Amino acid sequence: MVSRVVFGRGSFNQLDEILSLKRKGRNAPFIFYVDDVFKGNHWLTSRITLSYKDKIIYVPTKEEPSTGQIDQLVEDIILEYSELPSGIIGIGGGTVLDIAKAVSLMLTNKGESKDYQGWDLIKHAAIYHVGIPTISGTGAEVSRTTILTGPVRKLGINSDFTPFDQVILDPELTKDVPKDQWFYTGMDCFVHCVESLTGTYLNAFSESYGEKAYELCKEIFLGDSLSVEEAQDKLMMASWHGGMSIAYSQVGVAHAMSYGLGYLLGVKHGIGNCIVFDHLEAFYPEGVAIFKQMKAKHNIEIPVGVCADLEQAQFDIMIDVALSLEPLWENAIGKNWKTIITREKLLELYKKM
Ligand code: NAD
Ligand code: ZN
Repeated sequence: MVSRVVFGRGSFNQLDEILSLKRKGRNAPFIFYVDDVFKGNHWLTSRITLSYKDKIIYVPTKEEPSTGQIDQLVEDIILEYSELPSGIIGIGGGTVLDIAKAVSLMLTNKGESKDYQGWDLIKHAAIYHVGIPTISGTGAEVSRTTILTGPVRKLGINSDFTPFDQVILDPELTKDVPKDQWFYTGMDCFVHCVESLTGTYLNAFSESYGEKAYELCKEIFLGDSLSVEEAQDKLMMASWHGGMSIAYSQVGVAHAMSYGLGYLLGVKHGIGNCIVFDHLEAFYPEGVAIFKQMKAKHNIEIPVGVCADLEQAQFDIMIDVALSLEPLWENAIGKNWKTIITREKLLELYKKM
């Protein structure tokens, strides 16, 4: 679990104070990975104080993090500084948060990040790392994984060392998120809840967080009573609870298939989940019905025909990626999932998308 967290509008102002206790020396910098959407945004960046060799690195978020990118970022730090950083800070959405987590892990674990994709392969504690979400939904701020696209698969580095040491939850930072993106990333949270709550891995821990996040999502995306600020506050907490729910269970069919789309076509996580989830009524009847209501209420168009021009070999790649995520299928369907989920069934579903 995340060791420390502060919550509240304006809590981002505490960043300096929090970090000052963690500085290891003049040659051990804080490295800030900041979503490049904030480049030139004085309101946000003026509150990041750089001392000694500290550095802000703006990260483009067009593409999701890859193992090659992480290895390069780690090498850059090692070549530039004589000492390991005092801390790594990620300020952004799931993309930037995952980059911060992965870099902090790979600074203390030898070799290439692709070799750590999987469960509990990390051997050494990470560099002190701080997560500051600027968009709500992924739960990356609280989860024990950092999802990377590698040479052979899209899979997280799941470990007890992955969670942030400190998180700052300041809902005000989400104020300029574009509406479509708000919906796609918010639905990531909703889908986490549905997949966790209907899964065979469910337990009282996951259920208690999942139910809370599910209720918050319904209030935010279907209700009419919340102010803009209340909705921002609540979505940030929904994301947190949704992430906590899957931390002790698993995601399911939508995530497995969305990883296939992401790997082959570069479709991003939030929108990919929406594209897939729209067709999963056979697996999640209640969740998909509610999702369709939310989509209609907010006039959101989900892309169609993304798989229209694919060839069999490409479908096979997506199906391989999806099927390789065995724990997700076991959670969704049960131990006998291989008798139910066939390549033909996945092909038929992908062809609808
Ligand atoms: P994202 O981080 O790619 O951000 C989406 C878009 O929103 C970007 O264009 C970004 O610039 C913009 N944005 C972010 N904050 C903004 C703000 N305050 N104002 C204006 N624009 C803003 O998307 P995401 O949906 O947050 O994250 C997706 C990533 O998270 C994927 O890489 C996925 O694999 C990962 N993920 C990780 C976990 C985990 O547990 N580690 C869970 C789910 C998803
Ligand atoms: Zn997700």
